[in-house]
Amino acid sequence: MIDKILVANRGEIALRVIRACREMGIRSVAVHSTADSDAMHVRMADEAICIGPPPAAESYLSVPAIISACDITGAQAIHPGYGFLSENAKFVQIVEDHSLTFIGPTADHIRVMGDKITAKETMAGLGVPCVPGSEGEVPTADAAQTIASEIGYPVIVKATAGGGGRGMKLARDRHELDVAFSTARAEAKAAFGNDEVYIEKYLGNPRHIEIQVFGDGKGNAVHLGERDCSLQRRHQKIFEEAPGPVIDEPTRTRIGGICADAVARIGYIGAGTVEFLYEDGEFYFIEMNTRLQVEHPVTEAIFGADLVREQIRVASGLPLSFTQDDLEINGHAIEVRLNAEKLPDFRPSPGRVTQYHAPGGLGVRMDSALYDGYAIPPYYDSLIGKLIVHGRDRQEALARLSRALGELIIDGIDTTVPLFEELLLEPDILRGDYTIHWLEEWLSYRTGEA
Ligand code: ADP
Repeated sequence: MIDKILVANRGEIALRVIRACREMGIRSVAVHSTADSDAMHVRMADEAICIGPPPAAESYLSVPAIISACDITGAQAIHPGYGFLSENAKFVQIVEDHSLTFIGPTADHIRVMGDKITAKETMAGLGVPCVPGSEGEVPTADAAQTIASEIGYPVIVKATAGGGGRGMKLARDRHELDVAFSTARAEAKAAFGNDEVYIEKYLGNPRHIEIQVFGDGKGNAVHLGERDCSLQRRHQKIFEEAPGPVIDEPTRTRIGGICADAVARIGYIGAGTVEFLYEDGEFYFIEMNTRLQVEHPVTEAIFGADLVREQIRVASGLPLSFTQDDLEINGHAIEVRLNAEKLPDFRPSPGRVTQYHAPGGLGVRMDSALYDGYAIPPYYDSLIGKLIVHGRDRQEALARLSRALGELIIDGIDTTVPLFEELLLEPDILRGDYTIHWLEEWLSYRTGEA
């Protein structure tokens, strides 16, 4: 069994992992840049070690610094959190080569799922429904025209190496396609150093539904239902809920079973998320994330399971602590992502938090690394906390979210809290009636009005 884990991350997710370690009697090691010497994860871990200057490329992304930190502290395993090195197959290979344990899937699985074409081919081969589109890379504008006329317009040109919504271009007809093809390639080349693109049918008004899966690396896997993450700004999720407002039990069992079976067959180990667009009752696979997701707490809330604990268990060679039959949904959970950003244009707003009070009470969980007097450094992601509420049903969860937002105090900086207060007044949100375009349309309508 692992008895010391190095947490290769910062902020709320580093705290999240440290908490699981503490409950399991495992020692934790925090790593930090010089900008994070006063960060809460540094205080909460059993040990802390500085790994470099503020820029992430020289600290949280520095593979030699992280491997050396394991050497110095005697940590046997690394938990990567999300972001940073969590889906970097080369890093995982190096960790394995140093006889350390990576708490996550194998380098091979990360590589297959990190490339969208091989991910789609693999999943299609395992019986997972995919968006109709090209078989693999589309090398020329002529080939793009042929495929698009076969699948029908509109189509979307996407980068194989894509992420964060970059390198994606919509084409409504054959004239738009030539431009979309060349700009998607240029953007992909600039952003990822790889100009390979592929083509998919563009879905007009889908929801984003993702399935949480867990494999033990020995050919067994379970699913923990879905999360609806359709509320997105610039393809970034901001509000997530479980169960999905439009998914019923037979649908959940069917798609969950397909996903669990697919990852079991490839011998997947650890937590994973199979992402789909969902339209007119059909699921279309878009990608698989081979890590713990930011929004994992809504799943934890409705299943009463600790997903980080399970990650550590399977990485240690232990079985999952539940079977599919043990997993039963209890109530409804919602998460909102709180960013240090100034509305209406979401400009980053780092700085000193003069006063902080976290909401509490029944069914409220605040995952945040903030404290009174903390100076948020300008170098990293603007996520400063996640507020998660759990109720017996969706209506109770919504009322609890509104109540908890009212209790939250973050003074000294601008945050996205007012956005959620406004969203909770919208009839569509209260009814759960929204798609992946809802938030952008609502935001542009409001900006236009102002
Ligand atoms: P990334 O890895 O860049 O986030 P994804 O493939 O996960 O890219 O897609 C991100 C978002 O782009 C989706 O959540 C959806 O909003 C939109 N999108 C992707 N593919 C399609 C498609 N075929 N039709 C319509 N929208 C799409």
